[in-house]
Amino acid sequence: MKNERVEFGINCAITRIEEKCTYCGLCKKTCDSVQNIGNDCIKCGQCILTCPMGALVPYYNYQEVLNYLNDTDYTCIISISPATRVSLINELNITGDPTRKLVGILKALGFDYVYDVAVGADLTTVEESMEFIERIKTNNFPLMTSCCPSWKSYAITNNLDKYVSSTKSPIKMQGYLVKNYLNRYIDVKNKVINVLLMPCVSKKIEIHETDDIDYVITTRELLYMISEAKIDVSSIKEKDFDSLVGNASSSGVIFGTAGGVLESVLRTTYYLMNNEEFPKNLERKLMDSKELFQEAEYDFKKLKLKVARVSTMKELQKMDIHKYHLIEVMACPGGCINGGGQPLVPTNDNMESRIDKSTKLIDIDNDKSLRYSYKSEEINDIYKYDIGVPGGKQAHKKLHDSDL
Ligand code: SF4
Ligand code: SF4
Ligand code: SF4
Repeated sequence: MKNERVEFGINCAITRIEEKCTYCGLCKKTCDSVQNIGNDCIKCGQCILTCPMGALVPYYNYQEVLNYLNDTDYTCIISISPATRVSLINELNITGDPTRKLVGILKALGFDYVYDVAVGADLTTVEESMEFIERIKTNNFPLMTSCCPSWKSYAITNNLDKYVSSTKSPIKMQGYLVKNYLNRYIDVKNKVINVLLMPCVSKKIEIHETDDIDYVITTRELLYMISEAKIDVSSIKEKDFDSLVGNASSSGVIFGTAGGVLESVLRTTYYLMNNEEFPKNLERKLMDSKELFQEAEYDFKKLKLKVARVSTMKELQKMDIHKYHLIEVMACPGGCINGGGQPLVPTNDNMESRIDKSTKLIDIDNDKSLRYSYKSEEINDIYKYDIGVPGGKQAHKKLHDSDL
């Protein structure tokens, strides 16, 4: 029997291998239960994770990237997303520091420079916090986060875009930094190929909004690259990120799991409003990746803030958004650690895998000495030498989207 399947519109980064499809209908059931959006696909890739035949695949770009890596006329730069660093530990039998190991693997593949997208996330945090403070002054709520392109696509279709922050997402920040900031400091004579390593399928489309990024490859594509290049992972030495865009705060790193963006913005906003650190007893109240929805009230001295975080559009549809000052929205259940470009895990193990990856990001938050975006020397230098003051005129020109 032919069951109903999901349909993808044009300009979607997902395709179906018809010969593999058995018309089981599971992709449609997944889409309805996670997003509940009919045929208005928002490119989250959750159906890819549940198709039992492997018939749904994102557009792969890793072969093109491998070709550039083998061409000495190009300088290849890659930046690693927060979620990816904790996602290959089991697949690659990684012991030790997974982030430094991943940097070593990418250097062995031939990337000339390896940077951290969490620095872009720090920049997003600072600008979004400034934007939130402006909203507080003008009593204009809710402010809804802008990192997830699938959510932004839903917001535009459903007239919610006026609430979405204009601050650029971490990958656009990173794109800006690599193409417009770093080139003043690193000696690059060749044409730069700027690649982002992501857990996300939707970001393959998001990069069409900027000239700064050439390719997004998913975590799963990296596994194919390692296999095709015959890299012996066990023999790879751990390496550090390259400098200038390589020392992120842990606030930038927790962007990869549910509630992390909200937590990061709250930490910086609290400091900017009260000139003191976010109280330890308020930390990570809304970062349980098992839950699709969490809400809380915070005492910010000058006002009581009501905030929420939500994963999936179906869960968002149940909310009264007008009850809140600030809302984090992510399309994938549990956030980017469970994105459509992540390694496939059996459906029964999905929750366990989600909790495991989230816990590893929270461990990084516990262990790192630099825990606040506004304290990052790299971020402060970027403002000092390139952008001016946070939330200022230059910042709006360079670090905000004009379409929202
Ligand atoms: S889940 Fe996969 S096999 Fe089943 S209908 Fe959808 S695409 Fe086809
Ligand atoms: S990519 Fe997401 S929104 Fe699109 S069909 Fe699949 S589950 Fe639905
Ligand atoms: S939640 Fe993260 S992985 Fe999922 S669509 Fe949004 S940005 Fe991509």
